[in-house]
Amino acid sequence: MSAKLLAHQAECVKVVVRCRPMAQKELDDSHERIVDMDVNRGVIEIRNPKTSSSEPKKTFTFDSVYDWNSKQKDLYEETFRDLVQSVLEGFNGTIFAYGQTGTGKTFTMQGVKNDAEMRGVIPNSFEHIFQHISRSENQQYLIRASYLEIYQEEIRDLLSKDLAHRLELKERPDTGVYVKDLSSFVTKSVKEIEHVMNVGNQNRATGATNMNEHSSRSHAIFIITIECSEMKDDGENHIRVGRLNLVDLAGSERQAKTGATGDRLKEATKINLSLSALGNVISALVDGKSTHIPYRDSKLTRLLQDSLGGNAKTVMVANIGPASYNYDESLSTLRYANRAK
Ligand code: ADP
Ligand code: MG
Repeated sequence: MSAKLLAHQAECVKVVVRCRPMAQKELDDSHERIVDMDVNRGVIEIRNPKTSSSEPKKTFTFDSVYDWNSKQKDLYEETFRDLVQSVLEGFNGTIFAYGQTGTGKTFTMQGVKNDAEMRGVIPNSFEHIFQHISRSENQQYLIRASYLEIYQEEIRDLLSKDLAHRLELKERPDTGVYVKDLSSFVTKSVKEIEHVMNVGNQNRATGATNMNEHSSRSHAIFIITIECSEMKDDGENHIRVGRLNLVDLAGSERQAKTGATGDRLKEATKINLSLSALGNVISALVDGKSTHIPYRDSKLTRLLQDSLGGNAKTVMVANIGPASYNYDESLSTLRYANRAK
């Protein structure tokens, strides 16, 4: 790869940190806040509650940081809109929510249902996409949606009737990496694509005895494919295709700590493996010198191969909690994010 292309790739990855507010329970239990943020400078400080308060805080700087007062709309306008716009223009883009379970990944991606202010990036992108289409005059758009999850390195179609079926990753020289037999639905409005998302969410919960536990161990990927055809001056129809991947990652908490054994430990190892594979891919992309990007190390990175690097844009939102008992996990999330930027 040329030096120019490598430098360009580094620019296409943006890492932001978001810290959720204290939960009511945390306030009731008078948990101490150990996180400070300077949103204007993109700086975040975290203090180790186990040492004396005179010990220097650890400081990190990111493209942007969002504190407990941040609004979903602000994140969308400042951090996500450009990426979605570039998908409308025919590029690929991926948005990841990373972090310990309970820190706001699903809040950031989906938000709160039936509350316009609390809508996450997925429903906000639906509005954006269909508004753009309604205003376009000379283009024809075809919007398709797919929804899958990766659990223990197995791919499951969340929109299929046969939820037990495991899907395979395939590769073709012309179209790249794809999921064989993955269903996709053409949607013509915000309502229709919302319906597809809701069906997938419903299916995701089905069969999970404990939804929270399930979602903390699997990656959910909502995929929007945007095909645009336009009659150009040369009298020919030009088609361009962009793909938007919206990824709610498995919880990043170190599972070994919870004393997992047997199947649970095997599962934990796989989760950690795919998150570290993702970290390795992103850091290889941003370091701007690597000529080998280790996409093949996990299903997640292989599946997203054509949407990470090259002309694709990536935003990673690293989510943390503000309270002292989360210190170890919050620090590890900040280090992961720091390596990815
Ligand atoms: P995760 O998906 O990472 O496990 P959730 O998105 O389910 O975490 O968030 C855990 C809880 O915290 C939920 O009740 C959610 O509504 C709340 N929450 C998370 N982030 C925010 C935020 N920025 N503002 C308000 N509430 C939040
Ligand atoms: Mg979640």
